[in-house]
Amino acid sequence: MENNDKIFETKLDFTTQYKEACLLELGKEFEDCSDNERFFVLAKLVASKSRAIQATSHAKDAKKVYYFSLEFLLGPLLDNYLINLGVRDLVEEGMASLGMSLDELCQQEVDPGLGNGGLGRLAACFLDSMAHEGIAGYGNGMRYRYGLFRQYIEGGRQVERTDNWLANGFPWETRKDASAVEIRFGAQVVRHEDETGKFWFTQEGGEVVRAVPYDVPIVGFGGKTVNKLRLWSAEPATEDFDLDAFNAGDYAKANKFRSDVEAISTILYPNDAGEHGRILRLKQEYLFVSAGLQTILGTYEKDFGPDWEHLGDHVCVHTNDTHPAMCGPELMRLLVDEKGVDFDQAFEIAKKTVSFTNHTVMPEALEKWPINTFRALLPRLYMFIEEIDRRYRDGLSEKLSPEDGSWTDVLRNTAILWDGQVRMANLSIIFSHSINGVSALHSDILKRDTFKEFYKLYPEMFNNKTNGVTHRRFLREANPAYSQLITDAIGTGWLDDANELEKLVPFEEDAGFLDAMEQAKRADKERLAAYVQKVSGTKLNCDMVFDVQVKRFHAYKRQLLSVFKILDLRNRILDDPSFSPRPTAFIFSGKAAQSYTFAKEVIRLINSLADAINNDPRVNDKIQVAFVPNFAVSNAQYIYSAAEISEQISLAGTEASGTSNMKLMMNGALTLGTLDGSNVEISELVGPQNIKIFGLHADEVEAIQREGRYYAWDMYNADRARLGRIVDQLTDGTLARLSGNFESVRDHLMVENDPYLVMKDFYAYVQAWEELTGGYADRRAWNKSALHNTAKAGFFSSDRTIREYMSDIWHIEGK
Ligand SMILES: *Cc1c(COP(=O)(O)O)cnc(C)c1O
Repeated sequence: MENNDKIFETKLDFTTQYKEACLLELGKEFEDCSDNERFFVLAKLVASKSRAIQATSHAKDAKKVYYFSLEFLLGPLLDNYLINLGVRDLVEEGMASLGMSLDELCQQEVDPGLGNGGLGRLAACFLDSMAHEGIAGYGNGMRYRYGLFRQYIEGGRQVERTDNWLANGFPWETRKDASAVEIRFGAQVVRHEDETGKFWFTQEGGEVVRAVPYDVPIVGFGGKTVNKLRLWSAEPATEDFDLDAFNAGDYAKANKFRSDVEAISTILYPNDAGEHGRILRLKQEYLFVSAGLQTILGTYEKDFGPDWEHLGDHVCVHTNDTHPAMCGPELMRLLVDEKGVDFDQAFEIAKKTVSFTNHTVMPEALEKWPINTFRALLPRLYMFIEEIDRRYRDGLSEKLSPEDGSWTDVLRNTAILWDGQVRMANLSIIFSHSINGVSALHSDILKRDTFKEFYKLYPEMFNNKTNGVTHRRFLREANPAYSQLITDAIGTGWLDDANELEKLVPFEEDAGFLDAMEQAKRADKERLAAYVQKVSGTKLNCDMVFDVQVKRFHAYKRQLLSVFKILDLRNRILDDPSFSPRPTAFIFSGKAAQSYTFAKEVIRLINSLADAINNDPRVNDKIQVAFVPNFAVSNAQYIYSAAEISEQISLAGTEASGTSNMKLMMNGALTLGTLDGSNVEISELVGPQNIKIFGLHADEVEAIQREGRYYAWDMYNADRARLGRIVDQLTDGTLARLSGNFESVRDHLMVENDPYLVMKDFYAYVQAWEELTGGYADRRAWNKSALHNTAKAGFFSSDRTIREYMSDIWHIEGK
């Protein structure tokens, strides 16, 4: 192994540098440092080595991609970066020679609280893949002081505590005071005019905020490219400190301005509970957009001079959902007001530079802001939006023909300003050159339904980019035992090119390989069981099938459907001693937004079900239920690797893509799912014998909802003995021991008429589960299917996704 282009050349080189770093960083010998300090120093050392690589990663004139996202769900970085830098084994041996296990050291690292779930994790996977592809691809986001929350379970209930993830510092970041920029809210717009009649605007007064960047290195696999993620923090401009109040002893007043400003970067908002109308959120969105764009223009001007016309040839601004929707108008504002570019040209430049990914199909989930709030906070920006909206309306009648139906409807659905609101999705589309969905089905629904009018007007803008995940984190790092087997079989090339996983296909006939795979899975299950016992007290039986549903709690994801299946199994075991399903442990994890009452009740329901089943000797040798608290990237990696069944059971047409389905198939779990999101593509790739699909299709769901002929009470009355009984058990005391019954869940089904068609899909679901688990007895066949899933997972590497963005949207070449 040639190591002289690596950050550490030998084991001794590593231990020498590391021990010295302890002295430099903390003024202590390695032996005197706590585990947490040891982690901190190692992470700092790796971060500084990474920054040195970053400095030489790209030519100055390389095209740059800036990925704007309000969330980056990074997960712990140390283990990942050691792998990507190619020094993990060397560091592990070096640590061992110092008497410390690298694994234990890595466990000191806390998850950065910078994201909610799938959307934020996608952004993190994209950073990894952009660095792997060797492009200058940078993240731009917010540095939240507190993450979403830490989830605890008490009396079965979710309890939220502050996620103070920065408490021990974040060793990966560097504060860049010299790159701070100013952001202005609520200014006065002043019009100026010279003697020739030329006019321009300036902004005066208002609240001035200092946006300070913190940079985190993003290390690409192979160690050749290091990019960065820039996270913005809000601080007051210092002169606003009220010294008089302070000297008078009124510290609260003296600090009021500071705390008002700092509030902007204090918390990460939940993604799935009424967040509209919160002015702080709007300030977050504008701050990271404006600060990011100011930096981009500054860098560009240094490299290319004020050649604004060609900005879009050298810079791409990609917006992850509508949270950065202000990128288009803010770019225009900066070009017009600060760089003297003419309005029409600025619009062309903005449109050419900005592109947009949509993440939801539900019209009610599309972001909107009241015009009055928006205009008062961002008066100058609003002028650009209003003028572009006016021009859009002006041009519309030329583009429409009588066959296009009601022109008013087209206007209502596509205008930026309507009904007293700024519609952020329409804003994003009108200011971008490309809009994409995140799975084939989702992109079709966007064209057919959500944005059908736009699709008619601008079909060439629409495209699909099916999501992916970084297989280096979610297979190589998450599942070392299985990865080693894979590498022994096909070499290490798959880490670089996930399509090489296809080389595993011949091993589907190799009994020795399949047995070794089963042993690796067993070891992963035992690792997870030990973790689950530590964090929840539940002692999992590793002889059972591990069946997992881990994701945010949301009605459309239908964790409730899983509960129905488990209750049904319980009832049947009790009724009929000869009924013996394949023994299965059902593992759940995920957070519900603090204010999302229904989702929180489903969490309480699952914990109550666990209490009822795990303590009942009549059933607990056949089924178990576990809830893993505080779902995060770190513990997700244990769960994905140990899973044998992957539950992906959202109501068809509601999940844009899903990515845990990809991570789980990669790890050899078989999917039990509906034809929703990227389950459709998984199913096409692995073939019907290697996945279990059930339930209503998206068009059937649509027809049911359109016709309005679904009655939950008909379902109940038609089968009181089985389905009706489960509904009754929600309120009859069966599950009440921990903390009471579940009236509101029952109401969701029977009063709200089961909006996500849980009861409609129930029978098909239970049958599919029985058929799938019925195949588990033939372990050879099961393992073969599992291996086939891994072999076909190459398509779901985010490297593939990023290459598609590069060629179709960003027009940029990799290395
Ligand atoms: C991948 C991932 C998700 C997304 O899961 P879905 O099932 O696709 O919604 C959410 N949270 C974490 C921590 C993840 O790693």
